[in-house]
Amino acid sequence: MLISINRNKLYKKSIFVIIVLISALLLIPPMIDRNMNPVSDHAPYEVSDSAKALHNTLIIGDWHADSALWNRDLKKIYDYGHVDIPRMQKGNVALQMFTTVTKSPSGQNYESNKTSTNDNITALAIAQRWPIKTWTSLFERAMFQADKIKNLELDNPENFMLIESQQDLGIFLLKRSSNSTLVGGLLGTEGSHALDGNLKNIKRLYRNGFRMMSLQHFFDNKLGGSLHGTSGDGLTEFGIEAINEMMRLNIIIDVSHSSENVVKDVLDISTQPLVISHTGFNGHCESPRNISDSLMVEIAKKGGLIAVGFWDAAVCDNTPRSVAEAIKFGIGLIGADHVSLGSDFDGTITPGFDISELEAITHELLELGLSETEIRKVMGGNMLSFLQDNLPIT
Ligand SMILES: [Zn+2]
Repeated sequence: MLISINRNKLYKKSIFVIIVLISALLLIPPMIDRNMNPVSDHAPYEVSDSAKALHNTLIIGDWHADSALWNRDLKKIYDYGHVDIPRMQKGNVALQMFTTVTKSPSGQNYESNKTSTNDNITALAIAQRWPIKTWTSLFERAMFQADKIKNLELDNPENFMLIESQQDLGIFLLKRSSNSTLVGGLLGTEGSHALDGNLKNIKRLYRNGFRMMSLQHFFDNKLGGSLHGTSGDGLTEFGIEAINEMMRLNIIIDVSHSSENVVKDVLDISTQPLVISHTGFNGHCESPRNISDSLMVEIAKKGGLIAVGFWDAAVCDNTPRSVAEAIKFGIGLIGADHVSLGSDFDGTITPGFDISELEAITHELLELGLSETEIRKVMGGNMLSFLQDNLPIT
């Protein structure tokens, strides 16, 4: 009798432990996401009728969102994080580059991160119950995030289209002329850690839809120095080979997070224009996150785009006004044809607004005296033209 009572107690205790474990497994990922990707508390932003009217006629494009890193189902609307399709539609977003993060240091900072520092994304992959192969392979992490974006199109073709070529872009624009809330998504990498040290993986990433690659993230890597690493080095031999392979495949090269020496080296050897997918300008906001304005000028001279971020380390505040001021500064420095948007939404930043509220930027740009033509370009026209010129023809 005593044994059966004890067994009964043990059974109940086991069930309780299992319930607690399952609840924790289900609750922890959204808790992490909510904590890592907040939006500052704010009253609704003032948006004039003329700004609203203009905003609704813009092609809006953003070069950098890490939304695939989190377990949110991007088809649904959430009250946390920064991006999902319903909120993109509310913000009138047409084009979104989804960047896949594969390695990020614990104790991440903008000044100096040792290559030997532990990687945070491994713990995140385990906590979010990603497939086991993503726990050890950075390439598989990129592929897993890419599949999430590709599945958006399969599950939701009336609202989302993946764009991989100039032809796709043409089809997308045609479809959007009769379906004004269709969102076009593209795939990029944050750093080239997803190569897992193997140049052949560039082609594998290309075959799986990746059309933009950045070179470094917070660590120095096999390609060269990070802006936040320890060496400040330029491109390595491996990095030069990687650039050549990216150019051969018409992969857009993103030099955000790269050391200034890497940016100079890439400018020397690249025959295609470069993108900085998320940054600010030092002349507007002096920050270790931003490379020198003179390098920005060099990138623009070669036809490149500088995409302005929405967080404090890039533009010294996180309000629509500060983003608009950075854009205005950029236009003064390099011209309206070379400035674009690069939010870094869902990249563990704290913006003052989410993607549904982008009309507040249009309002502030008008308030700062930008012309309608300039606003059309920076809000997405430049991104569209760049993609029309630089995506592969398949
Ligand atoms: Zn980044």
